[in-house]
Amino acid sequence: MTQRPTALPPLTALSAPSLTWSDTSPHSDAFDDVYFSREDGRAETEHVFLNANRLPERFAGWENTRAFVVGETGFGTGLNMLCAWACFEQHAPKGARLHLLSTEKYPMTRASLERALRAWPSLASYSQVLCAQWPAAVTGIHRLHLSPRVTLDLHFGDTTERLALLDGQVDAWFLDGFAPSKNPQMWQPELFEAMAARSRPGATFATFTCAGVVKRGLKAAGFSWKKVPGFGRKREMLAGAIETPPVDTRRAATPWFTPPQALPARHVAVIGAGMAGASVAAALARRGIKVTVIERDAPGAGASGNRQGALYVKLAADTNHQSRFYLGGLLYSQRWLDQLNAPALWQPCGVVQLALDDRETRRQQRFIAQHPLPDNVVRPLSDELGDAVGVAVEARHGLLYPAAGWVRPKALCEHLLQTPSITLEQGSVSRLVREDNAWQLHLEDGRMFEADQVVIASAHYANAFEQTASLPLQQVRGQVSEVRLPDGVEGPKRVVCAGGYVSPALDGVLTFGASFIPNSADTAVTAEDHQRNVDELRQTLPALVAEMESAGLDVTPAALEGRAAVRAASPDKTPYAGPVPDAPAWNTAYARLSKDASKVPSTPGEHHPGLWISTAHGSRGLSSAPLCAELIASRLCDDPMPLEAPLVDHLHPGRRIISALVRAQ
Ligand code: SAM
Repeated sequence: MTQRPTALPPLTALSAPSLTWSDTSPHSDAFDDVYFSREDGRAETEHVFLNANRLPERFAGWENTRAFVVGETGFGTGLNMLCAWACFEQHAPKGARLHLLSTEKYPMTRASLERALRAWPSLASYSQVLCAQWPAAVTGIHRLHLSPRVTLDLHFGDTTERLALLDGQVDAWFLDGFAPSKNPQMWQPELFEAMAARSRPGATFATFTCAGVVKRGLKAAGFSWKKVPGFGRKREMLAGAIETPPVDTRRAATPWFTPPQALPARHVAVIGAGMAGASVAAALARRGIKVTVIERDAPGAGASGNRQGALYVKLAADTNHQSRFYLGGLLYSQRWLDQLNAPALWQPCGVVQLALDDRETRRQQRFIAQHPLPDNVVRPLSDELGDAVGVAVEARHGLLYPAAGWVRPKALCEHLLQTPSITLEQGSVSRLVREDNAWQLHLEDGRMFEADQVVIASAHYANAFEQTASLPLQQVRGQVSEVRLPDGVEGPKRVVCAGGYVSPALDGVLTFGASFIPNSADTAVTAEDHQRNVDELRQTLPALVAEMESAGLDVTPAALEGRAAVRAASPDKTPYAGPVPDAPAWNTAYARLSKDASKVPSTPGEHHPGLWISTAHGSRGLSSAPLCAELIASRLCDDPMPLEAPLVDHLHPGRRIISALVRAQ
C-alpha cells in the first residue's frame, strides 16, 4: 500500500485546458471528450454521482459533529460539486457540515468556468460564490469557504499524486475524469489504491464508466461494486463501497506525527487574542463550536497590534517545505480576507520586493526561473518598477505579488472576535490542568475556566505552561516607525519590501520598519530602532525620503512615533501549529533514534489530549496564522487538512524533539 510521501511534486503553474465550445458546453481538445452530458448535465450528475452515492438520504441523516466528506477526481466545471452543495442545502439538518474536495490537473480559467456554469441558472447563487473565489492555477491545496457550513478544497495537480498527499478521509467518491479510453494515464491501479487508503469505513463511490480497468482496479483496492442503470443512453454505470479500508501504513516512517484521536469539542478555550488566537477562534466558531478567548491584555495587544502590517512572504529561491507552506498561507489569507467583506481591514494593493543588490537580484532571478508561477501570484519587474511602486526607485529588479497588500492587524483581530459564539475574557492563564476529560484554565487572578479543548496562541508566552515548556521559542523585538506625510507627498502605492517594509500611507501616516532584535522582550520605543528604520527606508526608497525632507519633514528619531512589540520565532523559522506533544513520552519512546535514526519504533506519538498550539509566526503572521488556524480547527474536528501531509508534518509542534534526537546520533 502507498507509503506516506515526503516529497512534494514541483510547485508550478498549471495550464488551462484547450476547449471547444458548443454554446456553454465545453469539450476538451486534448482528451477529445465532453465535461458533461450535452443532453442534461445536471440530471446526469444527480443520477450518476449524487443518487448512486445515496447522498440525499445520507445528508438528511447526517447528525455528526464532523463534516460529511465528498471526494472527486477531476473538478472540471465544478458542476458535480455545486450539485452536491445544493443537495446538501436541501436535505442536511441544521448544524451539519459538508466538506468537498476535488482534484484538477488542468484548471479552467475563471472566464471558462463562468461560461460553462451559465448553463445552470438554478445554480447561479452557488456558481457565483465559486467563481468569485476561483484560485490561481498553482499546484497545491486551495481551501475555499463556500458558505458557513460548506468548504471546498481544490487539490490542483495530478489526481493520483494529490490523493497520495491528502491528509483526510472521504465518505463518498465521485469517480469522474474523462473516459478511461480517452484518459488511461489517470485510471491506474495507484488511483484506486490512493482512494481506498483515504476512505472511511463504508465509504461509497459512483462512476459513469463500466470499463474493465476500473472494475479490476476498484476490486483490487478493496472496493465492492455493482452495475446499476446509467444515465440517458448509457445502459450501465458502477456504484459500490469499501467496508474495510486498508490499514494506513503511511505513518510507518513518522509514527510520532500520527494525529491524536478526535475528542469532543463543544467548547474550546483559546489563549491569546492576536492574529493566531483570533483566527483560530474564528475557524472553530465557523464549525459551530463555542469559543472562549482569554487574553492577558486586549485583542492585538502584542505583535498583532500595529495599525498596519504587510501581508507578504519571501520565498526561498529553491523550493522547500517552508516556502510551500508560506505561499499556501499567503494565497489562503488573500481569499480569507476578501471573504470577510470588510474592505477597511485590508488593501490588496500588491507587494513589491525590491532587489537592492546583485545578490538579491540573482536570488530573485533564480526563484522565477525555478518557479514558473502564474502572473497573478508573482511576477518579475524591471523597467516598470518605478510605476509599480509609485515612487522613483534605484533598484533595477524586483518581484510583484499583485494580490498581497497590507492589513490593519489590530482591527482585524477585533473584527474576528465579534462573532456571537466567541466570548472574550481578559485575564492571564497561569496553569493548565487536565481533569475529568476536560481542561481547567487557572488564571493569575484566581478565576478558573473549563473547556473540552484548549488552543495556546499566546506568541512568546506559549511555552510558559508545564505542558509546553520544552518547546523552543525565541523572543524577537520589533519596532515600527510612523510619520505623518507632508502635503503633496504621497508615499508608495504598494507595500515595498527590501530589508524591512514600508506601506502605502494610511490616513496620511506612513508606517515603516520593523526592526528585528532577537532575544529581546523590551517593548519600549527607542531612538536607536527609529534610526535603524529610517536608515532602512533611506536605502529602500531614497527618493521618497529626499522628497519628505525637502518638503520640510523632520525624520530624525525624536520626530517619529512608533510602537514596539515582541514576536515569537522557532529555531527553524516555521510556525508551530498542531497538537502539543507529551515531550517526556516522546523522548522515551523515540530514544533509539539518538543511537540509530534508521530504527524507527512503531509507537504513535503521545499528545496532551485536546491541547493545541499555534505560535512562532514571527513577523509573517498575516500569511501564516489564518492557514494554521484552519489546520488546527480541521484536525480538531476530524476534517480533511488544508495542506499536504508533508506540510502538515512540517508544522508539527513535536518536530524539534525528533530532530534533536536524530542530531544526537
Ligand atoms: N466533474 C467535472 C464537472 O463537474 O464538471 C467534469 C470532469 S471532466 C469530465 C474531467 C476532468 O478531469 C477535467 O477537468 C480534466 O482536466 C480532469 N483531469 C483529467 N486527468 C486528470 C488527472 N490526471 N489529474 C487531475 N485531473 C485530471
